[in-house]
Amino acid sequence: MKAVIIGAGPAGLAAAACLKAKGIAPVILDRAETLASSWHAHYDCLHLHTARGRSTLPGLDYPKGVGKYPSRAEVIAYLEAYAAHHGLSPRLGCSVEKVEKAADGWRVTHSDGTEAADIVVMSTGVNGTPRRPDWPGDFHGPILHSSTYRNPAPFAGQRVLVVGFGNSGGDIALDLARAGVDVSMSVRGPVNILPKQLFGIPITSFGLLTKTLGYKAADALTAPVLRMVIGRPEDYGLRAMSKGPAALVHEDDRIPLIDVGTLGAIKAGRIAVKPGIAQLHGDSVRFSDGTSSAFDAIIAAIGYTVDLRPLLGAACPALDATGRPLASGAPTPERGLYFCSYKVSPDGQLFSTSREALAIAEHAATLLAEPT
Ligand SMILES: Cc1cc2nc3c(=O)[nH]c(=O)nc-3n(C[C@H](O)[C@H](O)[C@H](O)COP(=O)(O)OP(=O)(O)OC[C@H]3O[C@@H](n4cnc5c(N)ncnc54)[C@H](O)[C@@H]3O)c2cc1C
Repeated sequence: MKAVIIGAGPAGLAAAACLKAKGIAPVILDRAETLASSWHAHYDCLHLHTARGRSTLPGLDYPKGVGKYPSRAEVIAYLEAYAAHHGLSPRLGCSVEKVEKAADGWRVTHSDGTEAADIVVMSTGVNGTPRRPDWPGDFHGPILHSSTYRNPAPFAGQRVLVVGFGNSGGDIALDLARAGVDVSMSVRGPVNILPKQLFGIPITSFGLLTKTLGYKAADALTAPVLRMVIGRPEDYGLRAMSKGPAALVHEDDRIPLIDVGTLGAIKAGRIAVKPGIAQLHGDSVRFSDGTSSAFDAIIAAIGYTVDLRPLLGAACPALDATGRPLASGAPTPERGLYFCSYKVSPDGQLFSTSREALAIAEHAATLLAEPT
């Protein structure tokens, strides 16, 4: 029995290890030249926002000596060790172009040929395609997506506008502020903020509250505590979202900002807060409140899009109308086709990736044991 796994990031490696443990031979294909390519590309200062113990993949812990919140380099080393530990050798530089049903399973067409498979696991990630900004007007300087930001060095002495109040935006604005760059954040809508830890416990551990109480009750219970620990968003010139952090995850598939120091930098005046962008003109950015400021560069931390229709076809019943998987880490309407790590989780993405990989392998093994 053979599985083709598309993507050699954390999800693809975890799915491959779990399938292999069930006796299903995994072939991992990745278009990049390294495994864990997304982690090679992330900004230098990145540390996990989720604690080490909840950021492992099935069957291997981080080595001793790695801190509570591993650095980008430690995550890469961990993922390389993970592949070696499970005897996984992804085929790199191999771009998948089409995934089609065949008479006896699946056919995967890629840049080097085709592959027949009983099981296909899509693990191409939710951060592969940067969302493009659509601000009206022309800007004189560079507009970069956050995915291309590495470190503050190229921005020394510049006025930089970071757009978006997600975790990448928060990290990047803080990285720039710490380097003494003149930085502002453009925040269009109301926000939801969590501390990295609550009473010394990593915030993602509180995902358990949601599971036991339901997300609305969990939000009601934690609201006064969060207010006590981080204050009100209005204290930072921001607007509070009407729904709580657990509701944001469950209803909107979005994660709140996990504060690693951005709020302190805003309070200290090292990061200025601006509203949404209305118009660009030359070096000037006009905001929705009618004010304008001049900038040398804009960093768009505005997220990513996912559309698997080019690979699976628009008619694939496992996708919604926009090309996102309907189910992640669970059976789909297509026998033998699975998606790993396409759903936002209150427990942390890597934690839920592990659970999804285990569930996929369990289901695939049962499926392949059934008479066809
Ligand atoms: C800045 C940042 C910080 C994060 N921090 C955390 C954190 O602290 N804790 C946490 O739990 N999660 C975190 N995440 C979320 C998540 O854990 C990571 O994004 C993780 O890398 C997702 O793994 P993945 O395998 O699903 O996708 P990816 O790591 O993106 O891997 C997908 C792979 O698929 C390959 N691929 C795509 N299309 C094709 C194709 N057509 N053919 C062949 N190969 C293809 C890509 O080359 C890539 O290697 C973070 C994400 C970002 C962006």
